[in-house]
Amino acid sequence: MAEKILIVEDELSLQETLAYNLRKQGYEVEAVGDGPSALEAARRIKPELILLDIMLPGMDGFEVCRILRNEMSTPVLMLTARDDEIDRVVGLEVGADDYLTKPFSMRELIARVKAMLRRVRIIREEVSASQVDVPDKLIHEFGNLKIDIGRREIRIDGVLINLKPKEYELLFHLAKHKNQVLSRDQILESVWGWDYVGDSRTVDVHVRWIREKVEKDPANPQRIITVRGAGYRFEG
Ligand code: CA
Repeated sequence: MAEKILIVEDELSLQETLAYNLRKQGYEVEAVGDGPSALEAARRIKPELILLDIMLPGMDGFEVCRILRNEMSTPVLMLTARDDEIDRVVGLEVGADDYLTKPFSMRELIARVKAMLRRVRIIREEVSASQVDVPDKLIHEFGNLKIDIGRREIRIDGVLINLKPKEYELLFHLAKHKNQVLSRDQILESVWGWDYVGDSRTVDVHVRWIREKVEKDPANPQRIITVRGAGYRFEG
């Protein structure tokens, strides 16, 4: 079955060019031109990837991304036009997975789309592989912290913790390598992908966010340990 991509772009000629080129690659494409339609379409078609322009009439792409992030883990590729937008996207305030700066070539866009979808597939395969092999391995418990890979859920003392998709992936990755020191670059490559354009501060920001949610005292972490000059180590 073709992977579905939702395009959110109000500039009609660009929207059509994007749709045409992605369909030519074999993707199933739906294109809309404003925020409310984007939310409606995302909920209805459950795309594998969303291309999201920032400057949209009515509700901007940041707002759309923020709302979607609470509902689904679909990767979002932001299309930005201005420097001050890039700062916010790179700061990952909004939870976008990656961005492209306008103007971009179709070759660039398609390469990025393929890379992002490949990562989604790898994560799915990891999950289904662990499901086939050992069903009980789907749930990992570290003290009062429970990671349910099948349901993509984190619980502490049975209480559901709300993690953003990247926070979840990062925590899962660290937990899978319990007691090993992982460098920021290794983490970036595994969780964000080798072609991610951000830098290793991205990892630090996410670790900080996760600590706020899973550590009893985030200032004195016991689960995710900073190893000076080396990276991070998950201790359980
Ligand atoms: Ca626009």
